[in-house]
Amino acid sequence: MCRHLAYLGPPVSLRALLFDPPHSLVRQSWAPRDMRGGGTVNADGFGVGWYPGDGAPVRYRSAQPIWSDPALPDLAAATVAGAVLAAVRSATVGMPVHAGAAAPFAEGAWLFSHNGVVRGWPDSVAGLAAALPVQDLLTLDAPTDSALLWALVRHRLRAGADPTEALADTVRAVADAAPGSRLNLLLTDGRTAVATVAGHALSVRADGDAVLLASEPLDDHPAWRPVPDGHLVVATPAGLRTSPLGG
Ligand code: GLN
Repeated sequence: MCRHLAYLGPPVSLRALLFDPPHSLVRQSWAPRDMRGGGTVNADGFGVGWYPGDGAPVRYRSAQPIWSDPALPDLAAATVAGAVLAAVRSATVGMPVHAGAAAPFAEGAWLFSHNGVVRGWPDSVAGLAAALPVQDLLTLDAPTDSALLWALVRHRLRAGADPTEALADTVRAVADAAPGSRLNLLLTDGRTAVATVAGHALSVRADGDAVLLASEPLDDHPAWRPVPDGHLVVATPAGLRTSPLGG
């Protein structure tokens, strides 16, 4: 069911996040440990977004398994960033496999990822979709639950919601409309990362000047902490705060 991660802190190479750790995102793509709700590997594409200096994020997305991309190892070794969001995808049955369906989804400074599934898709959330501007629906990156979730979050951000409220409000609305959905969302602007834990695993590691959020810990470092279900995490390089998602 997809695996995602976010890093904020001193610049590191993408390789240090994607390839080097013993349980790196690449390893999690073919040997995940905690895939709740189905799926065995995350082979239906991947995406990496990073912030080069102060500019808008750059994305590299593909429909291929992350382990089979011939360009990625060199690209990852040569690319250094202080803010990164990356994901590997296990497509929900019936959803298309193409690069546009792979996270991160993006607008302006924002990068977004979803780990999970919307139950009863698409009928269960037809009412929520209908409340969006039609242009947003016509320009979805892909006809998938994750792309619609991004449109719902983005709509709230555009209306001025802070990122915490945009995620929490989207999770509440979708959970009401589609009970049993798994809604682990991850959003960053390169300075702060916000994540929800609703149906899937998430662990966090704060080291004082860097913070990592990941579906599964990347290594055995004792600083990793699992975030309980039904919670929301707000993280900056200086540390993190966890609070109940609320009802
Ligand atoms: N349901 C989403 C998709 O198919 C996310 C999948 C996941 O978490 N495995 O794109």
